[in-house]
Amino acid sequence: MLAFGAPGLMELIIIGVILLIPVAIVVALVVVLTRSRKASGNNPNLKPCPDCGRFVSLRATTCPQCGCPLQRQQ
Ligand SMILES: [Zn+2]
Repeated sequence: MLAFGAPGLMELIIIGVILLIPVAIVVALVVVLTRSRKASGNNPNLKPCPDCGRFVSLRATTCPQCGCPLQRQQ
């Protein structure tokens, strides 16, 4: 009984990798869809940060993501 479980480790690792691949694909798709929704949302109160590209409020003086000072630039 002491040797029990030894042969199953490799099988568990292989099964885990096989299961992780579709899970990772689904997670990646969800992340892409979520980001595309945020980016495509035409919110007039938001503008992209010139440094990191994150959408921040027009009232914000600095970017909460990277700390870039936000000024009106045309
Ligand atoms: Zn930024």
